[in-house]
Amino acid sequence: MTEADIQRKILDWAAEHPDRVPCLFRCNSGMFVSYTGNPVRGAPKGTPDLIGYLPDGRMLAVEVKGPKGVRRPEQTQWIVKARANGVVANYVMSLAQFVEMLPPVN
Ligand SMILES: [Mg+2]
Repeated sequence: MTEADIQRKILDWAAEHPDRVPCLFRCNSGMFVSYTGNPVRGAPKGTPDLIGYLPDGRMLAVEVKGPKGVRRPEQTQWIVKARANGVVANYVMSLAQFVEMLPPVN
């Protein structure tokens, strides 16, 4: 399963569980080229793949890694700083790990 497959599974799960994850979307970071050939500036380097929020208002940030994914220093720095400021942020390698990082259901 590729990183993109895992991201899709997480996004699909979140869409089916709006009570747990009201908002989650793909966030492209860094510079890339659009289909028209124009350079596009994405979110700052290191910003996680998936960004959203939880029912309690906290930001949710998820860096997805495939089986051979490498954790880049700027990604780790982003997560550490975000967590220090109350964001629910982490690395995940599966849908199960994503569900685990969510606050428990009351
Ligand atoms: Mg990733």
